[in-house]
Amino acid sequence: MKQYSPLTIIFYIIGPILIILSHFGSLLVFKTGLSWGAMLWIVFLYLIRMLGTTAIYHRLLTHKSYHAPALFLWLGCIVTASAGQMGPSWWKAHHMSHHQHSDSELDTHSPNTQSNAIASFYWSQGGWLLSPNFFPDKLPRDVENDHVLKVIDRLHFVPVFALAALSYFIGGLEYLGAFFLSTTLLFHGVQTVNSLAHIVGDRPFITNDFSRNNAFVALLTLGEGWHNLHHAFQSSSRHGITIRFGRVVYLPDPTYSFIKMLEFFKLASKLRMPTETDLLARSELPPAVETPVVSAYVDAKIVK
Ligand SMILES: [Zn+2]
Ligand SMILES: [Zn+2]
Repeated sequence: MKQYSPLTIIFYIIGPILIILSHFGSLLVFKTGLSWGAMLWIVFLYLIRMLGTTAIYHRLLTHKSYHAPALFLWLGCIVTASAGQMGPSWWKAHHMSHHQHSDSELDTHSPNTQSNAIASFYWSQGGWLLSPNFFPDKLPRDVENDHVLKVIDRLHFVPVFALAALSYFIGGLEYLGAFFLSTTLLFHGVQTVNSLAHIVGDRPFITNDFSRNNAFVALLTLGEGWHNLHHAFQSSSRHGITIRFGRVVYLPDPTYSFIKMLEFFKLASKLRMPTETDLLARSELPPAVETPVVSAYVDAKIVK
């Protein structure tokens, strides 16, 4: 494990503590009730921070699947850090490691390394954060070399406190409870990519792991549930793609739609995406392979 300074260790450990507190804080809504305004606040905070996680942390910062101005990246990372799911260095480090070791013993949060179904789900849905695996082996050099991103990474909890304070300022304990509930739902929504999207769903593309395309996870995560496509084509800005009957089919992917909107406003450029030829070549039943097999079978019958 990388040797961290005592201050970094303390700052990092605040992360899981906040998530645990958020679970208990959600109970506030049973005391205060929820007005329509507070419910909208829950949904708004969920969507904006989920988009931050998917479009900024994941597809931009980690996989560089499109280009964006540095100021946009910095602001996006501050918004995303308010989700309480750590800062850019920590997040990218774990995610790159996941791709490098997917579903092997070295995978930080694979459900497929556990002994039974309950342990698998618990581990991949967040249990791994309460283990020594929480600390990444190494932090990504490109993020660490960006002084702004590095500060956001270490002070990742400041946007969380700021958003909690803003919620309280807007609507007192009711909105604070709404903030906690939204943060808790968001946490579990994001974690379904690590759990369900490696257990349940179809595998239209060949990969050397158990990644799945899962529509339920895609709904919760604004498109990240098309996880098999993502493992097959990690730098694609669009995840909502599958193969049906030998043809490329595009699926709803709100994060990709958001990136297209950014492109319209000149905040995103150079969107990366595999060609249909690449997609078909990587599919489970590529026509190029299927055809000779069928032909051989027919030929064999004719000869016989
Ligand atoms: Zn994965
Ligand atoms: Zn990824």
